[in-house]
Amino acid sequence: AREAGGNTYRHYARGLTDYARERVTMSSELNRAIERDELQLHYQPLVDTASSRVTGLEVLVRWQHPERGMVLPDSFIRLAEETGLIIPLGAWVLRHACLQAREWEAAGIPFGRIAVNVSGVQIQRSDFARTLESILHETGLGAERLELELTETFVMDLREDAQQLLGDLKDLGIALAMDDFGTGYSSLAYLKGLPFDTLKIDRSFIGGLPDDPASAAIVTAITTLGNSLGFEVLAEGVETQAQRRFLIGVGCRRAQGYLFSPPVAPEAVVRLLTRAARH
Ligand code: C2E
Ligand code: CA
Ligand code: CA
Ligand code: CA
Repeated sequence: AREAGGNTYRHYARGLTDYARERVTMSSELNRAIERDELQLHYQPLVDTASSRVTGLEVLVRWQHPERGMVLPDSFIRLAEETGLIIPLGAWVLRHACLQAREWEAAGIPFGRIAVNVSGVQIQRSDFARTLESILHETGLGAERLELELTETFVMDLREDAQQLLGDLKDLGIALAMDDFGTGYSSLAYLKGLPFDTLKIDRSFIGGLPDDPASAAIVTAITTLGNSLGFEVLAEGVETQAQRRFLIGVGCRRAQGYLFSPPVAPEAVVRLLTRAARH
């Protein structure tokens, strides 16, 4: 739109710092990427900590940029949130993830459920629950096959609105996970009043296991309380057998991380799941 303004745009662009100019370029490219299907979804197994059995798949977006190659979400999700592009991007991710899951379901591939990351900006739109409902309807995926991951910081920002908003989502029959748990200073007492199914302990606490006493204490406390409050507790970023053994010891029944598998393309998911099923 600004380009159509000719002079106005050029004048405006000249006044920007390199950083800001880079952002302008990137957001128009991202906009195009959504329209031209340059986005891809990768999937990372969520597993049973002790048996490695796959219980679900987390959906992680990638951007296959024509010149820059594969771009990871940390470098464009925030920009997408700030520019509003997260709305079409988020809908694209949800629709494609549900379509893919429906396809696997039809082919008898035992993926458990898919877990999709949703941004606070996306969820706060008044029509989010309806959009989600129509995506489930369109794709034919059962709601019990879908989990949404929301970050702890976002949920805390919601305050009194959290109960209503999350309740509307739960009413659709989907599961809810609190992502990056432990980084946002919310209390387990506060959580108890919210309709979450899963707590995902942030990777930053797992890296120090088993030797760092603070990490060990935090992970033990979250797991013990989380289990007794009826949440499914999952540890993110598990990279070593020593970390896994610690988690099994404290009763953390779910895990995710490079020890089990990195995020992979859909074709590799099928190989991974059919291989696991045969063993
Ligand atoms: P997240 O939700 O915390 O996702 C987990 C991140 O940890 C992923 O990074 C994953 O590749 C990485 N990871 C998994 N296992 C390990 C491990 O063992 N060690 C280490 N060091 N890292 C591990 P990724 O794919 O780069 O995604 C980064 C973040 O971008 C995600 O963090 C999530 O917040 C956001 N994101 C990704 N896809 C979407 C999306 O579709 N929508 C939204 N709103 N956000 C997304
Ligand atoms: Ca996540
Ligand atoms: Ca996370
Ligand atoms: Ca994270």
